[in-house]
Amino acid sequence: MPELPEVEVCRLGITPHIAGKQVEDVVVRNAKLRWPIPEEVHSVVGKTLEKIERRSKYLLLRFSNGTLLLHLGMSGSVRILEQDTPAVKHDHFEMLFDNEKILRLNDPRRFGAVLWFPEHLDQQGLLTKLGPEPLTDDFSYGHLFAKAGNRKVPIKTFLMDNHVVVGVGNIYANEALFIASIHPATLVNSVSEEKFNELTDIIKQVLAAAIEQGGTTLKDFTQADGKPGYFAQKLFVYGRAGEKCDGCQSVLEEIRQSNRSSVFCPQCQVLPKQTVKQATKSKAKRKVPSKKKAAKKPKN
Ligand SMILES: [Zn+2]
Repeated sequence: MPELPEVEVCRLGITPHIAGKQVEDVVVRNAKLRWPIPEEVHSVVGKTLEKIERRSKYLLLRFSNGTLLLHLGMSGSVRILEQDTPAVKHDHFEMLFDNEKILRLNDPRRFGAVLWFPEHLDQQGLLTKLGPEPLTDDFSYGHLFAKAGNRKVPIKTFLMDNHVVVGVGNIYANEALFIASIHPATLVNSVSEEKFNELTDIIKQVLAAAIEQGGTTLKDFTQADGKPGYFAQKLFVYGRAGEKCDGCQSVLEEIRQSNRSSVFCPQCQVLPKQTVKQATKSKAKRKVPSKKKAAKKPKN
């Protein structure tokens, strides 16, 4: 699934080819994406694409009469191709520009989206409730600390909540927590302001590094094969359960949180006492035999 760095790399990859160009035609081959592609997308014909912005994982193509929103969903990718390039399976949507280039969306699983917002986009509600962008100054440790308050939410779930901060998807939440030595199940009310400060910097670094790494794939956006915007990265924990920790050689473990995989090092990311206490309390309520409770308690 493309995450924020992939979407940002996509924006960087396609912008030089189509920004400032006029749309000559719009072709919808299959309107059945996550939401049906609206007829109104044709209103960009004859208009100039002013710029491409990104908010969270949404690409926002700005025109004088509104915004065309593109979302890559689970498996979507876009390419910039020559106008005579034949369409292939899963090419659902395209825009033809006056420089003979096509922007083409391919999405096998069709969880992506193409939507049209005439003018005041943020009044439509899709983007208004989002938290700050992680790579801006609005995303600070003060913001995280204030949002955490006294909430008893696991830190990993908290970081992946779009109302808290956008674009910290599963991969980057796993990686940032490992680098910050925070166990993914740590409740946010037991994370200190100082620790949030460290974590905030790490999240910014991890995402910025991924975008930089993706920069090597920019040429893929103009090639007909491959999956532009998806790039291999050096990962410490994500997808590596059962392998050894780069730091201490312990075997990495995996838990499920909000139905997503969290991989961590049991030595480098220890659950704080406060979280263990609170977890034990809630288990007691569910009448877990005390022997098991004691056995599960990690040593500190
Ligand atoms: Zn370790």
